Amino acid sequence: MAKFALALHGGAGATRKRDYSREIPHMRGLVEAARDRLAAGASALDVVVETVKALEASGLYVAGRGASPNLAGDYELDASLMVGPERRAGAVAALQGFESPVEVARLVMEKTPHVMLVGKGAADFAASTDATRITNPETWFTHAGAGESNYPPGALAHGTVGCVVLDADGRLAAATSTAGVFGKMPGRVGDTPIVAAGTWADDTAAASGTGQGEYFMRVAATAQVSWRMRMGQTLEQATKAVIEEIGSLGGEGGLIAVDRQGNLSTPYNSEGMKRATLSVDGEIRADVFG
Ligand code: ASP
Repeated sequence: MAKFALALHGGAGATRKRDYSREIPHMRGLVEAARDRLAAGASALDVVVETVKALEASGLYVAGRGASPNLAGDYELDASLMVGPERRAGAVAALQGFESPVEVARLVMEKTPHVMLVGKGAADFAASTDATRITNPETWFTHAGAGESNYPPGALAHGTVGCVVLDADGRLAAATSTAGVFGKMPGRVGDTPIVAAGTWADDTAAASGTGQGEYFMRVAATAQVSWRMRMGQTLEQATKAVIEEIGSLGGEGGLIAVDRQGNLSTPYNSEGMKRATLSVDGEIRADVFG
């Protein structure tokens, strides 16, 4: 029997002060939908994009519709995706005016010779495609992270969504999308759209990060998972080592990762991480703490 596996996250900014009774069944439902798509032969690329698009559209997480504005009151969104084994990748940063940053990131990968477009260039490119525009930002955004911003000012409180997949053909893919950290400066870009920091997929592993992106960039977090595995570590050892390295620099966050055998790992050093997994045995788990 062909095997496939998946993990998704809704951000590592979770706090016990908040109730996640909407997010947990929502994440479980998305995993069930992804499982059915994978069983029908869908590609890892299609499933990571469909899943992240659904997370963005839900308005429940700090990405897509759930975004919070930057200090200037603008919504600058970041996303990236990567597909193994060819390591094709696409990304957008500080994108304004479009509902699904991950969709635009995929178009960058498929329709341009580039990996990343930012700011006005990203928006102009998106406008030349079928990507859906936000008609009224005043009513569109839900500010999903409002109850999670209980960090002191400047502490890089955060939220993000992501998905990693091993499909039935043995292909790995990862996608990540975010509004970034709360109260960010205009033009601030974190790890999420940076291939190797927030998103990675090759023929060894696929990983998506969530947390204080300034730290994830400084350790090349998601690429490091694969590099460590190629040096002999297991997926679990590699992801834990990366989170420990982030912690040793004073940062917090988490990772979701899957390898080509379908092993899954979801470590984090923050209070909680909204996450759900589908194992190769078909078991689904959705949780925030513990
Ligand atoms: N990593 C994201 C960023 O720094 C935020 C998050 O994952 O919550 O932009």
